[in-house]
Amino acid sequence: MNTFFIEFRDPLFGIIIFFVLVFIISISLYWWTKYLNKEKLKSLDKFLKDLRQTPSTKEMQSLVSEGNLSEKSWILLAGLYAKNGDFEKSIEIYNELLKINNASNSREILFLLGRTYFKAGFLERAKQIFLNMLKNNPRTPEALRYLLLVYEYMRDFDSAFEVLEPLDELKHDIVLDAHYLRAMKLLNDHSIDVEKKTAQLLDIYKQDGDLTYMVFEYLFRVDPEYAWKNFDASKSFLLIDILWLVDPAKLDLDIISQNSFLKELYTARGDIKDVSKSGVFELDVLINLDNKSNATLSFEYICDNCKQVFPFSFHRCSSCHAIDTVGVDISLVKSHARIESEENKSFL
Ligand SMILES: [Zn+2]
Repeated sequence: MNTFFIEFRDPLFGIIIFFVLVFIISISLYWWTKYLNKEKLKSLDKFLKDLRQTPSTKEMQSLVSEGNLSEKSWILLAGLYAKNGDFEKSIEIYNELLKINNASNSREILFLLGRTYFKAGFLERAKQIFLNMLKNNPRTPEALRYLLLVYEYMRDFDSAFEVLEPLDELKHDIVLDAHYLRAMKLLNDHSIDVEKKTAQLLDIYKQDGDLTYMVFEYLFRVDPEYAWKNFDASKSFLLIDILWLVDPAKLDLDIISQNSFLKELYTARGDIKDVSKSGVFELDVLINLDNKSNATLSFEYICDNCKQVFPFSFHRCSSCHAIDTVGVDISLVKSHARIESEENKSFL
């Protein structure tokens, strides 16, 4: 029987105990390291979550009032929030900064708050802020410019006109603003009939030859005959998208036949066959395709002032707020209207 047991004084017993201890320690170490790694990952997850979350209003209030960050840093942070579309957080920061009595840049902060309200679409609040600023400092052109924009967006054109006066006194060029506001007021006045509206719009255009796109977009839409009669062919390329969409029955072939660009444009569209080539690549391709393909023109709109590209035309750039800076960019695309009409024909 004793042959089945190992004596505790036997050297083999010591070796077995040693290996058992090594095994237990290794297992314990393995589980301990696994546990520590798990805890580390948990705290890393929490850290990343905290980093992604923006502070709550209360946290923000205490952070601003504690003064751990400089005023300039908060202004920069608020600007970043606004740039990323988080106007609410940006407004909270500006409001908290204004509550600090010794805010050294309170005028600048007030202006930035008004501008953020404007961008966020809180026009009434923006208006009150700019009016408040101007009450104490009437010669602040930036505030006047934004107040003008606020009134325009509110369709309060009479008040917008009043803002032009102090801007004029500050030697700001207000001619284009005045023309634009007159045209905007006319276009938004539903009590004036189309005939008077077109005549008055044309009057505005003829004063300095500005607002071409704005005026002729309306004229070609409501009265193409009147538009052709007063058309300046030198502005054809600027109006290429409007001209491209004129009803074939409303084309003035006498005017078109006298201008090379218009001949190229309407040959490319397939209304006439007056030319065999064009200096404009897209028109040249369409002329050479001779209306036998599903290609057409597509338009994009670029602001000549800030170079921002838009899918729709504009009269005042929504990015830099410049007036009459629209430029048209053309490209060739598949004509879905034509594909659809051919598909319909095949079903008949
Ligand atoms: Zn612009």
